[in-house]
Amino acid sequence: MKVSLCSNRQILQGCDLETYAYQCDPYIGCEHRCSYCYVLNQAETDWSREIQAHRDFAVRLRAELFPIKPQTIYFGMNTDPYQPVEEKRRYTRQALELLVELGFSACILTKSDLVLRDIELLQNMADCSVGFSLAFQDEGVRSRFEPYAPSNQRRIAALRKLKEVGVETYVVICPVMPYITDVETLIEDLAPIADTIWIYPLRMRLESDRNWQNVLSTLSEDFPDLTEQYRRVAFGRDHPYWLDLRCVLEEIRSKRGSNLRIELGNQGSSNG
Ligand code: SF4
Repeated sequence: MKVSLCSNRQILQGCDLETYAYQCDPYIGCEHRCSYCYVLNQAETDWSREIQAHRDFAVRLRAELFPIKPQTIYFGMNTDPYQPVEEKRRYTRQALELLVELGFSACILTKSDLVLRDIELLQNMADCSVGFSLAFQDEGVRSRFEPYAPSNQRRIAALRKLKEVGVETYVVICPVMPYITDVETLIEDLAPIADTIWIYPLRMRLESDRNWQNVLSTLSEDFPDLTEQYRRVAFGRDHPYWLDLRCVLEEIRSKRGSNLRIELGNQGSSNG
């Protein structure tokens, strides 16, 4: 994997999530290359060969953090902060070290158990949380849509470990793949180890988009009977599939008191 360095862009970006003012993506591009990832539509490089990283990352991040008051920074909006390149580059770790030193905290979303490497840093932050995104029960199906990401088993084991050591945990069921993702079963399995569970839909924008073309290609091979239904559901915010799912989830939330955040009206988060 080629990692090219870029020096001309801000590392800390404004964050659209209501709880966080800033997000940080140590890398630009994501080796996980999940087929449904909407960031693929704006990819600047071919992620199978090249991703980008910020030149002088730690020095520049320190300078950007210096003028703002300590707060929680979100990681995982546009790329996975623990994609394979992080094992050697350690940019995410450098960012966490800085946050600890300066009294900041982190909310991290990933698909990788590499996050466990940094567990002692996470434990040193007040108000830190770590989440994993999952969208499938069946490992064979998962590997068709997310062939380069760690298995669900590894994600769940890491989540359990984080919960055990007292780090706040969450799961993002994202994207809900219509007629494929068994949302109820995932909630049941994950509720004991996730303090919060967020649910985001598969939401496509244009038929010409790369993520839609990827999903369509896998569906055509593995689930040919679903392709036409997907055209209607993935592009339709008010499709009955989503309305029915919302009712089911609201019932689960009120009956079981689960800490569910139902975000079916929104675009899925990237790491989901
Ligand atoms: S969905 Fe997340 S993990 Fe997958 S390619 Fe996109 S940024 Fe990477």
